[in-house]
Amino acid sequence: DFSERIEVKSADELGELAHSFNRLSQALEEVEDNRRVFLANVSHELRTPLSYMKGYAEAMEEGIIAQEKGLSMIQSESKRLERLVNDLLDLAQLEGESYPLSLEPIALAQLVHDVLESVEVVVRQKHLQLELKLDDESIIEADRDRIEQVIWNLMDNAIRYTVAYKKINVTLHVEDQWSVLTIADEGIGIPENELKAVMERFYRVNQARSRKSGGTGLGLAIVSEIVKKHNGEFELHSVEGKGTEAVVRLRNLE
Ligand code: ADP
Repeated sequence: DFSERIEVKSADELGELAHSFNRLSQALEEVEDNRRVFLANVSHELRTPLSYMKGYAEAMEEGIIAQEKGLSMIQSESKRLERLVNDLLDLAQLEGESYPLSLEPIALAQLVHDVLESVEVVVRQKHLQLELKLDDESIIEADRDRIEQVIWNLMDNAIRYTVAYKKINVTLHVEDQWSVLTIADEGIGIPENELKAVMERFYRVNQARSRKSGGTGLGLAIVSEIVKKHNGEFELHSVEGKGTEAVVRLRNLE
């Protein structure tokens, strides 16, 4: 319990000390609050797929739904659970002070191409148009797996929140000491007043809809952490109903 306050009656050194103790205890309270909210969110997110799985198993047992259907639902919920746990582990590691990056020179255009290849099938299934403009000159010093994760998460969102036949623009250009990667979609966009919140853990614009779309609500938080760890910058611009633009700036190899 940090709620006890020390009365500050004078502006002398003792008073100052009491003042900073009070500020410290307030900061600790905030940390404690955040931790509680985070734990509640994690529990909720883990419980949801579990209760779906339980529900399907019961329905199968009672013969309310066909085995085949039940099993495929259980499988998809367990995949979701797996994704969630993986994302949580990634975040926990990334947030640790001592997270080791294994830095190496990376040709970013090539890495973007590799990721795009892995999402090509979905892009085609959804009849999305992919437009690329990648500068081959961009060489950064970064952790390959982590940057791949950044590109993948952002592409995944661009694809997921864009309806069929629309366009996704991917550009990479070199600007002074920065490599600037932009992924712009013509999707549903994000309301202006929620633009900040979507970067936070578990926040989704429309919880129910976004859950159906298969996301964990952790993708952008992970992107943010990885870019920060690389001393880069990450920005999200969006117009509701028009589209979203994610901009990642990473330092070029000197
Ligand atoms: P999720 O796994 O739910 O996609 P993210 O952290 O990646 O989690 O994104 C958080 C929320 O931000 C999403 O649930 C969605 O509501 C919104 N969002 C993210 N990217 C886009 C985008 N490109 N277009 C529209 N909405 C987006």
